[in-house]
Amino acid sequence: MTGWDRDRTALVERLREEYGLDERVCSAVAAVPRHRFVPERVRDGAYDDRPLPIGQDQTISAPHMVALMADRLSLEAGDRVLEVGTGCGYHAAVTAELVGPENVYSVEYHDQLAKEARETLAATGYGDVSVRAGDGKRGWPDHAPYDRAYLTCAAGEFPDAVVEQVRPGGVLLAPIGTGRRQTLVSARRRADGSLERESHGAVRFVPLQ
Ligand code: SAH
Repeated sequence: MTGWDRDRTALVERLREEYGLDERVCSAVAAVPRHRFVPERVRDGAYDDRPLPIGQDQTISAPHMVALMADRLSLEAGDRVLEVGTGCGYHAAVTAELVGPENVYSVEYHDQLAKEARETLAATGYGDVSVRAGDGKRGWPDHAPYDRAYLTCAAGEFPDAVVEQVRPGGVLLAPIGTGRRQTLVSARRRADGSLERESHGAVRFVPLQ
């Protein structure tokens, strides 16, 4: 076991105790080498439970937030998932552990981050995750309908195109709000396109561009 593995195991133990996460989510976090996704200069903090800078003024979310979001979405093997905000690709890799990499479609606004995320995902065994550079507000219609969709950046409201691309009965999750703090909101899409919402507390994310 390397030092990284030990640090990651200890982190998962802390998350399991503190947040009562689904065991499958714990296994997913235990499987993904977060240190390979964060830039060299902040690598020492890879298994601290906090966000880290990844360039372009963006951050990788804290591990507990990635784990909580995966838990709230109740991801099942085979679910087709849309992610808005690839960042460094870490969250996409955790999702891939749960649903299978070929079922993850992620859109990233910054070309450079999208390119780096694609490279890191390929180098860590998640090369079947699809990453596209573009505006995630438009979703990724080519692979719709999705069973699940989530945003890793804060929006005033769930983007219409993303809602449309989720199947009836499917679930969305996003930090909703325009201030420095937002509310993590999940929403089940009804057949008529309306949303049945549930709040999961205050969070802090970078804004949707
Ligand atoms: N899930 C990421 C964290 C991402 S931070 C990880 O594990 O590293 C939020 C990301 O959303 C940033 O990379 C930012 O560039 C991206 N973003 C912001 N607005 C966007 C938009 N309109 N479409 C797609 N991505 C967007």
